[in-house]
Amino acid sequence: MSHNQFQDYENRFIRIVCFIHYNIMLADVYISYPLEEFYTYRVPVGMNIAPYSRVRVNFAGKNLTAYVLRVHDNEPKDFELKDIIDLIDHDPIYDERLMDLARYTALNYLSSIGEALAMALPSGLKPSKRYKIPFDKLGVVIETQLNHEQKIIFDDIIDNKAALAHLIFGITGSGKTEIYIELARRLIPQGLSVIYLVPEISLSSMIFERMYGVFGDDLIIYHSHLTPNQRLHNWIRFYRGEARIAVGTRSAVFLQCPKLGMIVIDEEHDGSYKEHSTPRYNARRIALYRSKTEGALVVMGSATPAVETLYACEKGVMKLHTLKSRYGNASLPEIEIVRINSTKPKHIISTALKLNTKRTIDAGRQVIYLLNRRGFAPIVICGKCGWTMECPQCSIGMNYHRDRHMLCHYCGHRQAVPAACPKCGSEQIEKVGSGTQRVEEIIEKEFPDFTIFRLDQDSSRKKDTVPELIARMNRGEVNILVGTQLVAKGFDFHNITLVGVLLADIGMNMPDFRSSERIFSLLMQVAGRSGRGDAPGRVIIQTLDDQNPLFRFIRNHDYYGFYRSELEARRMLQYPPFTRLARLLVRGANEARVIASINSLKQALEEQAAALKADIRILGPSSAPFGRIGGNYRHHIIVKSSSVTALQETIGASRGAVTGRDVYLEIDIDPYELM
Ligand code: ADP
Ligand code: ZN
Ligand code: ZN
Repeated sequence: MSHNQFQDYENRFIRIVCFIHYNIMLADVYISYPLEEFYTYRVPVGMNIAPYSRVRVNFAGKNLTAYVLRVHDNEPKDFELKDIIDLIDHDPIYDERLMDLARYTALNYLSSIGEALAMALPSGLKPSKRYKIPFDKLGVVIETQLNHEQKIIFDDIIDNKAALAHLIFGITGSGKTEIYIELARRLIPQGLSVIYLVPEISLSSMIFERMYGVFGDDLIIYHSHLTPNQRLHNWIRFYRGEARIAVGTRSAVFLQCPKLGMIVIDEEHDGSYKEHSTPRYNARRIALYRSKTEGALVVMGSATPAVETLYACEKGVMKLHTLKSRYGNASLPEIEIVRINSTKPKHIISTALKLNTKRTIDAGRQVIYLLNRRGFAPIVICGKCGWTMECPQCSIGMNYHRDRHMLCHYCGHRQAVPAACPKCGSEQIEKVGSGTQRVEEIIEKEFPDFTIFRLDQDSSRKKDTVPELIARMNRGEVNILVGTQLVAKGFDFHNITLVGVLLADIGMNMPDFRSSERIFSLLMQVAGRSGRGDAPGRVIIQTLDDQNPLFRFIRNHDYYGFYRSELEARRMLQYPPFTRLARLLVRGANEARVIASINSLKQALEEQAAALKADIRILGPSSAPFGRIGGNYRHHIIVKSSSVTALQETIGASRGAVTGRDVYLEIDIDPYELM
């Protein structure tokens, strides 16, 4: 058989059988190493290998999964070829479309194709369907009909299938989910498949439960709480079209199917659509690419769209649809900003919050407390007015550093901690960085008669936490739900009428140009959990700095006001969407070597940029906000450019500068976490 015949066959299930003994059959495979090229192995006689399947090979002394690109009998260049050890898949589990997606991912996020394939494909070796759906009362069909506002958007999306993507900008509880479900119901009978992305595993089970009533066994779930073999089982069912709708987290964006009809990206602003290991892809961009290449509808939705997404709508790249009111005349909650005077745990529940909590629970309603203590580097804050220090050059929060100075983690600017607050003169300069854990105990002590449920990254890791929470909330067994940002995302509990944010200031000072956007969207989202049912809701946001202009937008539910002011700030300082960023992080156990490497990386970047005439700006190197994790020192460089190609080319040509023992380079294009 010739090489060409292999390239243009259409039948995905064709199987190549190598009977011909005197012809050595070879397979070109990719492996998940940072190497650009594919490798050639010999196919043992009698082994039936299909392109687009996985095999096991020995590479550099290790047995690894490899991804078969093609099988051929071309003269081998090297007669010392190793045999393929074994088959993993007996039939193809993907096709040329995934290869194309992997090439796109590798090119744009500067990984190898093998790494991109390993990211996209499930790692399980043997499909297993033993997965118990974690709900008691499945299969309740809830018949809904879109209201007038929803129907207009539905029609507009169906009539504009050619648009690259759609954004449904609808306040919390406005009925976006119903529109996605209706769209899926329209597309699936046409033989199309639908991928429905949610930002959190906990949300995927909620959406799954809601959709199971509509789609039954046509539905699969896809996220990392499944075992690798369960994921493989679901991957194959979706690939074969045995199930037409998939609900999943980020990596579900790579799912393959006979014909892709739509990708829904719920809560599109959420940071979890960005991957944290190589290739550091963003599911939003992968979805847009599949819109182009596979003609899929892409429908994103949010109550607080990412600044970059709304900007894309204003530029005409995406189509904007707006839902202005809550479904069924529920009103938006009233938001009150309450100033507190100390960050000490024992003062963390203000009188206003205390009274409102008691009143709410006495009225038979439920309460959410947001304890925003996601990972952040230590800051100093004026305990009187909430002032924190910003870098004069980058306008982002500075952090308290190991060497007792304030450090800007973008440009490396360094400054002493002031003795008094430059804004109000107070000498009450406090270091905040930990200690918030204790707040939970304080809440329990404060309200000994109430039932408290805690939801955070640790507790939600257990499989049953969220289903249990949902069941107990719905039965009215929980009085106060306390949690980190997880509680802000997507819950649709109808009996919550009070939301309390304990210390809004924490998120404000992240060393990240997106910190205002994040805190704004977090506060709006958590506020959106209040008053979703028949009774009006209230939100109490506690802060040290009630004069912060952000709160004016929040109190008025004024997304556009926030957006305009944020966009202006980004334009002035040249942050996305006006530029593209990359972050290059070098880590290693020996700090001197890390610093030497990052300096030679910087030099290489400067030389390559000059040679390529690439218009880029290099910030740093600086120690990263988390300057040391697990024994590794971390230093980084931020690169800015108006052209992402210039970024990619310059970095691609310079990356070789980081070499040697024990130093590792992490490349992040369009970074989301800058910690
Ligand atoms: P969003 O996704 O915008 O936050 P949801 O789709 O969750 O909003 O809708 C909020 C609430 O309103 C949910 O309880 C949902 O079941 C209900 N709802 C929305 N649209 C309809 C509809 N057309 N018919 C019946 N109930 C609806
Ligand atoms: Zn002050
Ligand atoms: Zn700076």
